Amino acid sequence: MRGKLSKKAEVSAPIAISTSQPAESRELRRAVTRASILTFVVCSLGGFLASSFIYRSSVGKLKVSHQDQMKFAGKVIAKQVDLGLVGKVKRAEHQSSVAFKKLLSQAGLSTASDPRIANVSIVRLVDNKVRYVIDSRSESGNSGDKKDASSKPGDEFASTSKNLRLTLSKGIASVDAESNTTKLGDFVSSYTPLLKGKRVIGAVVVDMRPGYFQRDLSSVGSAFKSGIFATTGFALFLALCAGFYRRRIGLTTEQLSADFHSTSKKLNKTEEELVDAVKVANQANKSLVQTLWTSGCLIWDGTGSLQDDEFVWVGDVKFEPPFKWLADELKNGRSFDEVWREYKNEDDQATWQRIVTHAVRNNLPGTLVDYRINLENDRVLWFSEQLNFEYAEDQTVLISGFITDISEQRNKDEQVRKLAYYDTVTGLINRTKIHEHISELLRDKPKLSVIGIEISNFRNVNESWGPDIGDRLLYEVGNALKEGVGNFGVVGRLAGDDFVVIVPEEASIAWLVSKIDEVCQKPTVIDGVEVAKICRMGYVTADDGETAVGLIRKANLALEIARKNHATYPVPYKAEMSFKAKMRVELETAMRQALTDREFHLMFQPIICNKTKKVVKAEALLRWNSSRFGVVSPGTFIPIAEESDFINTLGNYVIDETARAISKLNEAIGQDEICISLNLSLRQLKNQSTLNSFSSALEKWNIGPKSMLIEITESSIMHDASEGTAMLDQLQDRGFSLAIDDFGTGYSSLSTLASLPFNCLKIDKKFVDGIGVDRKQEAVLATIVRLARALNLQIVAEGIEQEAQFHFLRDLDVEFSQGFYFAKPLPFEDLMAMVLESHAAAA
Ligand code: C2E
Ligand code: CA
Ligand code: CA
Repeated sequence: MRGKLSKKAEVSAPIAISTSQPAESRELRRAVTRASILTFVVCSLGGFLASSFIYRSSVGKLKVSHQDQMKFAGKVIAKQVDLGLVGKVKRAEHQSSVAFKKLLSQAGLSTASDPRIANVSIVRLVDNKVRYVIDSRSESGNSGDKKDASSKPGDEFASTSKNLRLTLSKGIASVDAESNTTKLGDFVSSYTPLLKGKRVIGAVVVDMRPGYFQRDLSSVGSAFKSGIFATTGFALFLALCAGFYRRRIGLTTEQLSADFHSTSKKLNKTEEELVDAVKVANQANKSLVQTLWTSGCLIWDGTGSLQDDEFVWVGDVKFEPPFKWLADELKNGRSFDEVWREYKNEDDQATWQRIVTHAVRNNLPGTLVDYRINLENDRVLWFSEQLNFEYAEDQTVLISGFITDISEQRNKDEQVRKLAYYDTVTGLINRTKIHEHISELLRDKPKLSVIGIEISNFRNVNESWGPDIGDRLLYEVGNALKEGVGNFGVVGRLAGDDFVVIVPEEASIAWLVSKIDEVCQKPTVIDGVEVAKICRMGYVTADDGETAVGLIRKANLALEIARKNHATYPVPYKAEMSFKAKMRVELETAMRQALTDREFHLMFQPIICNKTKKVVKAEALLRWNSSRFGVVSPGTFIPIAEESDFINTLGNYVIDETARAISKLNEAIGQDEICISLNLSLRQLKNQSTLNSFSSALEKWNIGPKSMLIEITESSIMHDASEGTAMLDQLQDRGFSLAIDDFGTGYSSLSTLASLPFNCLKIDKKFVDGIGVDRKQEAVLATIVRLARALNLQIVAEGIEQEAQFHFLRDLDVEFSQGFYFAKPLPFEDLMAMVLESHAAAA
């Protein structure tokens, strides 16, 4: 080490305290005097300048406004002047003519009606010379300009007014800027051209009394004077205030100075006393930020870095520390440096070293470093250290500075950060942070997994228990997830009831998924009451080149499948889910266009009366022959249509087409001989306008409701019985027959079934398939038939493919059969042929 050790720290005083007479007081008073004079001068001058500026611009505006008024008056008069009359008054003797008198009265009218107008005269332009015509002021003559009392009509005169010449030559209205004093008084004249087509034939000269303008002008002038007066007064008031304040300051500063003086007298200039003074000052002001004065020196050989241990800090704290924990440690005989090193956050210590090394190497005069002090119980304090360096010749760096507690400020910053990144309900990271976190992790650990968790019945909880309990449930679930996941992942809340767990290690995913599943199964108790929750889970592990958005989307797709299948187990993401989702979007788009492109049509599957073998019913089944996807099965497109409102549009098409088919059949075989059924989705049942669609179809095709049977699947009506049943009653009231479709697959409760207005029950194919194969199914089939009898329902058996099935059902007294054994769904013409044939055979 080349540097010489300096054991004693050099300190520069943090506060200079004056021991002389209160010179500051005098200085301050002088400053206030100067300030008040300056204020007075500036305010008065400013006021004067502002007022004169306003005055000038007001006068300008006033002038323009007056000139505009004059031009306007001129224009009005010029309009009243009969141009023909102007031409007729040419010579002095015409003064007694009717034309002259008329003109005079036209001009006189204006002078009489507007007190501002003193006189109106009319001049003509003949061979580019100005000729006098009339003057409203006197019948005999006029005055002003070069005209005089003896001027007669037809007299030529040379006008001195540039503006009159301008008006006569260019045909534009003008106004004299100044008033002209004539024998008859003071006037300002305006000139308005008299135009015949585009030709100027003369002008109307309107003499205005300038008194009105003067009056307005003087009112602006007095406003100006008041402005000056007000601002000067205000300036004076400010100056007086300052004077008063000056006196007060004088007293206060004198007092303060006296205090300081007496305090400093007690002090001598040793370092310890200086320190005491600051201590007293610090104690006196409790709100002062907690600050330490430190000093010391670094010994540096000029080449090494701080990590080399060649850089040694030998400083110490000079005041009794305001921080109790530090004071206690120091009382135990430890050095400040030792304590500080122990508590300082390790990472921040490294930063501190780096910043200080940089500053010292570059001979900087000082630097600023922020760092954390970690106390017990996870308490963290933030400090800002402001250091000044003095470089001694012997490589010793003398340092002095303040260490200030900035924890409060930092905590505020932290709160702002939390608001941006944390969800306020659960305290978990929010969507923004989730995305950022996944993106960050993907950079280092591309094999990370994302688990999506939702509370499927959250909406119900919110609606029936209220939003407060809803929030509590979210909080509790979030907390439980956090506890369950521990250090193996990070839990966040995406939105609503959607949670996410980000798992950095691929290996732990299976274990973690089952762990989370376990957490979700546990009951959540809020205020002693158990809130039942249904959680579903979908998860995905990242492929190469994955993005945060992509991962979350995939976890959501898996979650969506879990939701659709009512899965109570975690569902892993599979590539086909993305494919299906994409396909779904494409199909939906194409389907909307398909209706316009007439790619849909109905097929009709005959339904046979078991006794007579006649085709008495048929089921309308929708078909989509897509130009892009080929034949698409209703099993594929109907659920997609059902997810959006499009099912209503599509359903209306089916209603209309079915009605059309019925009307054609009616024509062929007679009214109400056959009944066609159509399938109605739950969404249509909930849509009030479906009723109108039925009514208008009946009306349009002139058929009765009896020939239409409406099939509703058991599962849809049982799933959401309350919402669709109102419409069922309305349909029944209007005379439609209703069938419960796919019976036996929807777990209907008997009481619900009995309460609904069905006329017909369609036994699902799965029971028919069991005939001759499964005794149990046969037994169930028999029970269903008995049940239908008890409820007085007609029975149709679906999906009959074999003769034996038909016989079995007929023996059970099932009335109607539908199935490939009799016919597949047929085009309308084929149905018609089959109906006619079966009716003819039965007859
Ligand atoms: P669904 O209402 O149960 O219709 C009967 C389905 O069973 C029809 O299939 C029909 O072709 C088929 N089927 C009839 N007899 C037999 C048989 O003996 N063996 C076999 N294997 N199948 C038979 P499809 O036409 O594919 O319709 C499937 C489902 O699509 C329908 O089931 C219905 O739920 C729905 N669907 C069809 N058209 C419409 C419609 O216009 N509106 C609504 N909302 N749904 C429709
Ligand atoms: Ca059906
Ligand atoms: Ca069915």
